[in-house]
Amino acid sequence: MFHKTFVLLCSLIVTAGLFSFSPVDPQPQTPKKKAVRTIIIDAGHGGKDPGAKGLQSTEAQICLQTSMLLGQEIERQIPGVKILYTRTTDVLPGNMPTKDEALRYRADFANQSAADLFISIHANSAGKAPGGWNERRVAGYTEKVTYKKVKGKKKKVVTKVPYYETHYVVNKTAGTETYIWTAKENSHKGEMVSGHEASSEEDSSITIPDDDPAINALKLIYTKKYFLKSLRFADLVQQEFARSGRINRGVKQRNEKGIWVLHATGMPSVLIELGFISNKEEEEYMLSGSGQNEMVANITSALKTYLQEFGPTPAQPAGNTEAPSKEGTGLTGFLQAIEQKEKNRGGK
Ligand SMILES: [Zn+2]
Repeated sequence: MFHKTFVLLCSLIVTAGLFSFSPVDPQPQTPKKKAVRTIIIDAGHGGKDPGAKGLQSTEAQICLQTSMLLGQEIERQIPGVKILYTRTTDVLPGNMPTKDEALRYRADFANQSAADLFISIHANSAGKAPGGWNERRVAGYTEKVTYKKVKGKKKKVVTKVPYYETHYVVNKTAGTETYIWTAKENSHKGEMVSGHEASSEEDSSITIPDDDPAINALKLIYTKKYFLKSLRFADLVQQEFARSGRINRGVKQRNEKGIWVLHATGMPSVLIELGFISNKEEEEYMLSGSGQNEMVANITSALKTYLQEFGPTPAQPAGNTEAPSKEGTGLTGFLQAIEQKEKNRGGK
C-alpha cells in the first residue's frame, strides 16, 4: 500500500515537474528553458539488508552517504537536472519487506519517474573476512604412537599428525568497477567489457523471476536502446575514478539476477561499485569525507561529459500533458545510431 501511494506520489511529483518546466511559451520553436533531466540515484541495500560488511561499517551505510552527497553535488553542478532517490534513510526502498521486493520497487520507481538515467551505488566485497583473516597452514608433522589390540596382542601404531601455524592474510582486493547489464546468454558473472580481472559481490543472489514475458520484453528493449549509453557512462565513470588514482577494475557486465534492476529500468543504467568494503584502507577511504567527496566529484564529472555528449532532451511542447515518451525525446538520434551500429555489426 505504501508502495502504491509512493509511486503515485512520485508520478504526481514528476507530472508537476513537467508542468513547471513546460510553461506556455509564445515562441515554442526557441525554447529558453533548460531541458529537464531526471536522474535516479539508487543507494544499494538498506534496512534489514546491510549488504557487505566492513570492519567498521556496512555497505548500506556507505551507499546511502555517498548517494545523498552525489545527488546534492549533481544538483549544484548541473542545472536543470532533477534527482530522485530510491531511498534517503536506512530502510529498504519503499519500506519493502524483502530484498527482492525492494529490488522490484527500485525498478518500478525508476520507470514511474520516466527518468533518463539510473545510477545504482554499491560497495564491493572480496568475500571472507573484512580487513583480513587468520589462516592455519600445516607447518610440519609429529608422530603419534598408539597401541591397539589385534587378536589379543598389543600392536604399536604410528600415525603422522600435522601441526599448524597461523598467519594473517590481508584482504587486499581493491578498486572500483562499474557494471552494466547485458542480455548475452554467454555472459557470466563479472565478465569483462574492458580489461582487468573479474570479481564478484557477495550480495548478487537475488531471486527475481526472469520468465515474466513483460520482463523479457523489457530486456529486449533495454539491449536495443540503452546498452551503448549505459556502456558509455560506465566507461566515463571508470575513467574518472582512474584519474583520481583509484584502481580501475573496468566496466563489466552481468546478466545474472543480482543486476536485474538494471535491465528492468527503461533507461540507461549502471551499477557502480565504489570500492571494496572488505579492504581496510578502501573502507576507510569510502567512509571519509575526502574519499566521498572525491568519488562524488568523479561521478559528477563523468555525468557532465555524458550529458554533453548526448545533448539536452528537448523541452516538452507547451500544453503536453502526457508523460515524456522515450521515443519522442532527444534519444531518437542516439537510438538511430545504435540501430546503425547493430546493422554494421551484422545484427538485425
Ligand atoms: Zn551491493
